[in-house]
Amino acid sequence: MSLAVVYSRALAGMDAPPVTVEVHLGNGLPNFTIVGLPEAEVKEAKDRVRAALQNARFEFPARRITVNLAPADLPKDSGRFDLPIALGILAASEQLPAAPLTSCEFAGELALTGELRPIRGALAMVLSAARDRRAFVLPEPNAREAALVEEAQVYPARTLLDVCAHLAGRAPLARCTERPQVTGQGHPDLLEVKGQLHAKRALEIAAAGGHSLLMVGPPGTGKSMLAERLPGILPPMTRKEALATAAMQSLGGQGFDTANWGRRPFRAPHHTASAVALVGGGSHPRPGEISMAQHGVLFLDELPEFDRSVLEVLREPLESGRVSVSRAARRAEFPAEFQLIAAMNPCACGFLGHYSGRCRCTPDQVLRYRRKISGPLLDRIDIQFEVPDVPSDELTRASCGEGSSVIRARVQKARERMTARQGNENARLAPREIDKHCTPDEKGELLLKQAISRLGLSARGYHRVLKVARTVADLAGAERLASVHVAEAIQYRRFDRVRDS
Ligand SMILES: [Zn+2]
Repeated sequence: MSLAVVYSRALAGMDAPPVTVEVHLGNGLPNFTIVGLPEAEVKEAKDRVRAALQNARFEFPARRITVNLAPADLPKDSGRFDLPIALGILAASEQLPAAPLTSCEFAGELALTGELRPIRGALAMVLSAARDRRAFVLPEPNAREAALVEEAQVYPARTLLDVCAHLAGRAPLARCTERPQVTGQGHPDLLEVKGQLHAKRALEIAAAGGHSLLMVGPPGTGKSMLAERLPGILPPMTRKEALATAAMQSLGGQGFDTANWGRRPFRAPHHTASAVALVGGGSHPRPGEISMAQHGVLFLDELPEFDRSVLEVLREPLESGRVSVSRAARRAEFPAEFQLIAAMNPCACGFLGHYSGRCRCTPDQVLRYRRKISGPLLDRIDIQFEVPDVPSDELTRASCGEGSSVIRARVQKARERMTARQGNENARLAPREIDKHCTPDEKGELLLKQAISRLGLSARGYHRVLKVARTVADLAGAERLASVHVAEAIQYRRFDRVRDS
């Protein structure tokens, strides 16, 4: 036989569509071509495959070798097709039985020595293959993440020779069944932050309702410390959520470390990050920071220092929980269900309102500094609050408050109430659902009307107050929205007031 077919997968956003690798050996001058829209990296595959076959003591056929990667219009980045191409050549030249190839899918980059190198997005590929009920042979470093897919049959291999011995029936590969438990441990504890009880309360509300939040305060007040502790008070991830989070990190490039299984991600990109780094993109679209933070927390410190155009691209995913990136003719969609937590100084020098009185910024400078953040983005942040600087002697006397596990228990209870009532978090309530679930009592209504005229709340800001009030009520175990809940929620729109005053 001079024709062989091997199955593999490409990556397109979160999808991993099947790719058929056809290898044909023809008569004529020795030649090696790969067709089917190969990118530069696939062309390099030729050299790697040739060297790997020769170093593994196989014969590289001195014939016209044609490799077709089908369908032709799929993006086929990286060296993931090295292994299937090499196996196709071996089968077509009858150095390997062809029949066992049909029950499996293969992916892996070949080192010149014939060893298998890890690839990007193994988890997404195996998720798709499991749906098609095919086994998957992968480089060993990828196997542990791929085996997180319970229904998948994953066979890790170290070298091309190992795969050949498996296919020839001489030394079957052992199926990888090692699965870590979802623990969700390892986040820093809120007990380590002294004082700042008001900020911790805001963090608890944000965690319970899935609300985005903005902290305003001078440097050194522990804004970053507070932010890092948000994942630790979020409810434990479900298996499905953990899998989605792992798949995004596997797609992001470094592979997924199974030690992080079930752990909510915390991503803190620097303010010099580009729009592509933040939301994703590139010629082979990769997820950005917002998708890598799937089901976790995205922390933007020094918010006004981010490029304004970079921040603008956050608006759409903040609303929809998805992001679609396109480049040339290719479009990819990634999930982006992250919780945004941002921090900023109150003014350019950072010390406005500080007890030391050292800020010399003019009101005009303060306003200009705050206007660096666009109104529409600010409108999409549910909770805004100040983190005041506390003199150190006062801080040593301050209590630490409760630990993360105590708060997490309350957060989880509140989440259960939301799920039972409306099936999602309060932050994700649509306007129509807000009318249904967030109607305040008479006193609350009055309070709200006063706040609208005093703060000049936009319609969106008004809805945010109601959603946050709903979460405050859920934490208190209250059925009805009362004025006390509304009053607390209004406090968290402080920035609307100072921005334009
Ligand atoms: Zn200042």
